[in-house]
Parts: sequence; structure tokens; C-alpha cells
Amino acid sequence: MVDTRAGVTPRGVAVLGSTGSIGTTALRVIARHPDRFRVSALTAFNNAPLLDEQARGLSPAFVGIVNGNGSESTRGWATGVGCLVDAVRRPDTDIVLNAIVGAAGLDATIAALEAGKRVALANKETLVLAGEIVTEAARRGGGEIVPVDSEHSAILQCIAGRPRADIRRVILTASGGPFRGWSREQLESATVDDALRHPTWQMGRKITVDSATLANKALEVIEAHFLFGLPYDRIEVVVHPQSVVHSMVEFVDGSVMAQLGAPSMELPVLYALTHPDRIEDAATPRFDPVAQSPLTFEPVAEDEFPALRLGFRAGIAGGAAPAVFNAANEEAVALFLDGKLEFPRIVEAIGSAMSELAGMSSATRDDLLAADAEARAHVAGRFGG
Ligand code: NDP
Ligand code: MG
Repeated sequence: MVDTRAGVTPRGVAVLGSTGSIGTTALRVIARHPDRFRVSALTAFNNAPLLDEQARGLSPAFVGIVNGNGSESTRGWATGVGCLVDAVRRPDTDIVLNAIVGAAGLDATIAALEAGKRVALANKETLVLAGEIVTEAARRGGGEIVPVDSEHSAILQCIAGRPRADIRRVILTASGGPFRGWSREQLESATVDDALRHPTWQMGRKITVDSATLANKALEVIEAHFLFGLPYDRIEVVVHPQSVVHSMVEFVDGSVMAQLGAPSMELPVLYALTHPDRIEDAATPRFDPVAQSPLTFEPVAEDEFPALRLGFRAGIAGGAAPAVFNAANEEAVALFLDGKLEFPRIVEAIGSAMSELAGMSSATRDDLLAADAEARAHVAGRFGG
């Protein structure tokens, strides 16, 4: 067989957050396609042993650890927050896979877009915190944001290049998380272990708790607004417990397109690297509609899971409100995971921060980071025990 790709140089991928759930998935996917992709840079926060193992296996030109402690293995690595931006600006980095958790990924996203690179974005908090600034950086620098989040990947695949005017609405699917069907009384005594037992997805701890509160879906609504330029009244959410239909798009003629697949992040990661092309990937599980059936849908229990409504409110309010929503959530989830906050108080903390701080200035990156810091301080002070 003639290799039609002969002579094509593999594209350099900087994997930020390589030691996390999405990061390790990405390295697995990239390893299957050495003719297409090579790892140009790896970064982590403080997991030096795993980063060292990855660096030895892949020999990237750049390795960075934000919280390096000077141990043997970190010698020769870049350290400090600046290493994230250094990793993305390298000329041998063509694509930045941002798999950092939380607001910490913001500057790397902006730097990559300003440098005209593709950002395969898992780090949704970046878009929620500063959606306008991030999308403006892409316009200015000629970079592009391609979502890794499975729902947004599904929407991108369904839209398939059609203009925004063709879209009547998008419908994001939500698994409902581990507490689907729980009453408000039951949720009062939900433990950390309960929250981390997600029925369909294996993910990092923060997003797993976000899936339990439905704050994850709130973040995804705001993410969809910025990615696809859609007003909030054209973004809806439906619970789909099997996590097989990854999202749907309804077009103006009434036709609805959906993207289906196993609940695995491998395909959305691969697609974010290859979009708009598709490449053969024999490891992706085959879809069996009979084995997957039945596929069911139900409304979101908004009274039990008020984070979704709050997220819509933050998105519609705009300005600093999404940044406050995100930062208050990050802080409250950290407190919950530390056993210092009860499960239902996470959403109360977000609501409290929003009513006090949503009106803060939001014109610049620094304004938004100030709102982010205020929201964290508010939650730590009022809810941190
Ligand atoms: P993990 O917690 O598993 O991994 C986070 C990664 O980011 C780790 O490599 C960690 O390094 C690094 N990191 C953490 N904090 C910082 C920081 N302050 N500065 C630099 N690096 C940091 O998270 P996930 O992989 O689950 O999620 C990553 C992102 O992808 C999140 O935004 C999440 O919402 C999104 N996402 C995840 C999905 C999933 O299936 N997991 C699905 C869809 C979206 P270290 O290991 O050293 O701490
Ligand atoms: Mg998602």
C-alpha cells in the first residue's frame, strides 16, 4: 500500500497536565499515532515520579514542573508557573493539549492562541473564567480552540462546518452523576466517597465532584456559549444516564444530529488533534447499538441540583459572574474534598460568592483574576470553617 502521508512531519504536541486523567489518556492516544504526532513538551504540577517516567519514555525536548522541589529527577526541568507558557511558545509545539485542572491554565491558553497555535482544550475553567479574553486572543493571534470536552466535541462534529445561523439549539447531555435520583435530604449526608463514585466516567477528582453537583454541566453551558457563539436560550441540558449520546444539535429545519460512542475520552482527545480530519484508530471500541440499548433521557432535577440554574445565571449576567462562579466552585470543591464542607454547601458557597461579587470589573485579565481571588477568599472565609 502506498503511504500517502509519506514525508509529513509529525506535529508537536505540548501536553500540559500530562500526569492527570486527560493527560495520560492523551499520551496513550498520541503513542498510537507516531506518524502524525510527537510530544514536544510535558508539564505537571507536582507529580515528579510520573512525569519522570513519562519523560524517560518519550524524551520530549521540554519538561516542566510547576511545583518542583529540586529533587534528583527534576534536575534539568523548567519550574514555576512560567514553565506552562514556555512549553506552549516553543517553535516545536504546534498543538497545545491543555489538560490542566482549574484557572491555573489560563495564561498558557492565551499564550498559545496569541501565537497562532491550536489549543485542544480540556481545561474548560479557562473559558469560563475569561471567555471573551480567550476568544479575543484567538482572533488576534490566529489560533484556534478545539474542545476536548466530550459534549463540545460532539457538537463540533455535528455542526460539521455549517454556519451558526443554521443552528436552532444545542442539547448537552449530562449523565446525572452519582447522585441522580437522590433527594435533597439524602444529599445532606453525601460523603466524599459517594461523590467520587461516578457511574460512567473515570476522571480527576475535581471534575468528578463537579459532575456530582452538576456544576460541571454549568461550566459546560458557559463553555458552549463561548466556543460556538450561541446565546444561552439556545443551549439546553438533558440527563442521559448511559453517556452514549455525547450531545445533540438541532438545526433550523428541525433535523437533529447526535454524536454517539462509548464513554471514553480517547475519541474526543484524538478528534481535537485531527479536526476537521478523521484518522483510523483501531483501538477505539466498536459501537454496538443493541448492547448499548436502551438509551434514555430525562429532565434535570433542578431543585436538587441548583448549580445548573446558577451557572445559566452567571453566563447570562456575563462580566465577572462566570469567573466568580468558577473560582467559588474550585474553592468549595477543594474544601469538600478536604472534608471541611458538606456536599450541599458547595452550591451555597457559589451562590453566596455570586451575590456579593458578580458585579466586579471584568474588562481585563487582571480584573478577572482579581474577581477569581476575591471569590476564593469569600468562600474560604465564610465556608472554610
Ligand atoms: P486531573 O486532576 O486528573 O489532572 C490535572 C492535571 O493538571 C495534572 O497533570 C496536574 O498535575 C495538573 N495540575 C493541577 N494543578 C495545576 C496547576 N495549578 N498548575 C499546573 N498544572 C496543574 O484532572 P483531569 O484530567 O480530570 O481534568 C483536567 C481538565 O480536563 C479539567 O479542566 C477537567 O474539567 C477537564 N475534563 C476532564 C475530563 C476527564 O475525563 N477527566 C473530561 C472532560 C473535561 P499533578 O498530577 O502533578 O498534580
Ligand atoms: Mg464533559
